[in-house]
Amino acid sequence: MNCIFCKIVAGEIPATIVGENDEAIAIADLNPMAPTHVLVLPRRHAPNLAVYRRERPGGLDAIFALASEFGEGCENGYRFVVNTGPDGGQTVDHLHVHVLGGRAMQWPPG
Ligand code: AMP
Ligand code: ZN
Repeated sequence: MNCIFCKIVAGEIPATIVGENDEAIAIADLNPMAPTHVLVLPRRHAPNLAVYRRERPGGLDAIFALASEFGEGCENGYRFVVNTGPDGGQTVDHLHVHVLGGRAMQWPPG
């Protein structure tokens, strides 16, 4: 499968891995949008939350546990984002949670 995040999980292309657990890895986003911008992605390929939850019931807990480690490191708060589908602005079709922090976020999002 030609999936860039699967290739990162497999170690076939380089990435800055900043954390991991049995279910997921955390990498530094290549194009950070905030002082803290980490992506948490399951080791197993799934294009979106719906498919992932069907194939890995209960797996989200480990993903959010890892994401929370980075969020909790941002003393003034943080934001989790899961862009999904064309309207959601998803550009990589492998489920991932953005953890953004280190600056004040805008609302509503663009
Ligand atoms: P999304 O638009 O929600 O699908 O987010 C995809 C994210 O992956 C973007 O923030 C990209 O900057 C990031 N990204 C794409 N390729 C890589 C890579 N090789 N290493 C790290 N982050 C990447
Ligand atoms: Zn993948």
